[in-house]
Amino acid sequence: MKKQLITAAVAVSLLTACGSKSNTSESSQTNKFDYTVEQFADLQILRYRVPGFEELTLRQKQLVYYLTEAALQGRDILFDQNGKYNLTIRRTLEAIYTGYQGDRTTPDFKAFEVYLKRVWFSNGIHHHYGSEKFVPGFSQDFFRQAVLGLAPSALPLAEGQTAEQLCDEISPVIFDPTVLPKRVNQADGEDLILTSACNYYDGVTQQEAEAFYNRLKDPKDESPVSYGLNSRLVKKDGRLQEEVWKVGGLYSPAIEKIVYWLQKAEGVAETPEQQKTIAKLIEFYQTGDLKAFDNYSILWVQDTVARVDFVNGFIENYGDPLGLKASWESLVNFKDLEATRRTETISANAQWFEDHSPVDPQFKKQQVKGVSAKVITAAILAGDLYPSTAIGINLPNSNWIRSQYGSKSVTIGNITDAYNKAAHGNGFNEEFVYSPDELKLIDQYADLTDELHTDLHECLGHGSGRMAPGADPDALKAYGSTIEEARADLFGLYYVADPKLVELGLLDSPDAYKAQYYTYLMNGLMTQLVRIEPGNNIEEAHMRNRQLIARWVYEHGKDGNVVEMVKRDGKTYVKVNDYAKVRDLFAQLLAEVQRIKSTGDFEAARTLVETYAVKVDPALHTEVLERYKRLNLAPYKGFVNPRYEAVTDEQGNITDITVSYDEDYAEQMLRYSRDYSPLPSRN
Ligand code: ZN
Repeated sequence: MKKQLITAAVAVSLLTACGSKSNTSESSQTNKFDYTVEQFADLQILRYRVPGFEELTLRQKQLVYYLTEAALQGRDILFDQNGKYNLTIRRTLEAIYTGYQGDRTTPDFKAFEVYLKRVWFSNGIHHHYGSEKFVPGFSQDFFRQAVLGLAPSALPLAEGQTAEQLCDEISPVIFDPTVLPKRVNQADGEDLILTSACNYYDGVTQQEAEAFYNRLKDPKDESPVSYGLNSRLVKKDGRLQEEVWKVGGLYSPAIEKIVYWLQKAEGVAETPEQQKTIAKLIEFYQTGDLKAFDNYSILWVQDTVARVDFVNGFIENYGDPLGLKASWESLVNFKDLEATRRTETISANAQWFEDHSPVDPQFKKQQVKGVSAKVITAAILAGDLYPSTAIGINLPNSNWIRSQYGSKSVTIGNITDAYNKAAHGNGFNEEFVYSPDELKLIDQYADLTDELHTDLHECLGHGSGRMAPGADPDALKAYGSTIEEARADLFGLYYVADPKLVELGLLDSPDAYKAQYYTYLMNGLMTQLVRIEPGNNIEEAHMRNRQLIARWVYEHGKDGNVVEMVKRDGKTYVKVNDYAKVRDLFAQLLAEVQRIKSTGDFEAARTLVETYAVKVDPALHTEVLERYKRLNLAPYKGFVNPRYEAVTDEQGNITDITVSYDEDYAEQMLRYSRDYSPLPSRN
């Protein structure tokens, strides 16, 4: 499972998941680093830093290097998984992009350039998030002339194919809106396989595929493998069969390269456990045996000592309408020691926080244990995590392995940091924040207090409190998740203002919390509405919880004028007049929400949610959407990777690995297509 930044999220206050940041003292260096690369269509390209890489040992750096090489070799696999024409189309477009002799300033060429950049971003011709096919902004005629103007040797021609025939083959796929319109179709009642463009099945109906896999399942098996995870299901000679992705099977040329680099990594593993883990993954790639994959996952989840870690393989199944087949992805990372220390500090004091919380003593836990989240630094993003990435990961996905061996839950600190840094100065806060005073507070403290709030929410909030004897834990039904998120958020909001955080060295100013209070209220009262379509209510539990808290505090503080909504030049702003009172109100609401949860008071939960969390003020909504639109911010973001290079001595021994950040987007994509492209165009 991955935790995604699913939003138009552009300001810290919109970030929904854990995040972290290390080396806050490096501000002088940070200032010089440009986090933004370019913007086109609905996408913004950013870059991220890898703080701490230089301090790794040479052996750790080598391990990272070999694992990043293994990561980059899988890119073609994902293109082919996402659609059977994707590699042919990508290579044709790249041939035009690099070889076109005509005028590069015409509207056709400019639109063509945007189209190619979108194909790179989505690893195919369908939108990475919505999965609908892009509409090209250039003409079919331009495309054909451009292809025919190239030397045939530059084109990905099939055996005996002419350039004309190549155009005939792929033009409808690019231009005809009725051909392969969706990568993943989830519309109820249609054959989801026949109507989805993803390349996980060939010549097979949904019914046939479901019957095929249902036959394999044994209901008595308590440790079932993930059937279908690593293969394409095809019908050949009237018979259903799996083409397994392994050495000697489908995608072999890419998997052989992955194995080659994994073997190098195995040689410099940090611990014997990690070495065994990598060896088991190699065995899986060599045999395609799903039992080997489960054994690998078990070793991997238990391997928590080594600082360097990685994901590499067929992991997530969002790209298959039946949710069986996994797309290829890789992430190489190492533990962020400083940020992890922060979550450990919070967890180590879990009992103090529980004892001092403003909830009724009968609903407090006698013995509470905090969860310590691991914060990691990403070194490379690849496959289905590139360029668009998750900010948190929780693996493995196999349910029986999770319940028997647990899972690794991580947040990717340097990626969250890059989102935050890139959002500074994008105009969002300048547009919506009331005055320079609040802006200054936010600038100074919001990144850190937002992270602390998330840590408190995740490490303590969800685990705090206890049920009253005999109360039904499912009593709140559909309101349960909103109430649960509100409980965790309120726990974090109450404590982010506590002097204890300054005492523990987690904050250096007793005023820092005001940045979190302001952005939280502004988000809950107003700015999160940018993610809601006009006319819709709020459905998602996290968004409901935020509006619930912000509206409740606003309404209950009206008498004392605690929080105001003020109008200036026709624009609405949130103004906080009394931060100490806001904290009191958070405390009152936390006590009430905990009571509702502990006693299973369904009626009270329903009233709270329906009164404060669901409905949207249409006039304010329209205003917020218009103001947001004028900022011209791209709703989706992705990253270019850093570039690693091995420094060798005269004997060819690696003496160092350097990291650099100067590559631009097209440059990186073309390099990957040149140096890491082992698969044929048609697989
Ligand atoms: Zn939560």
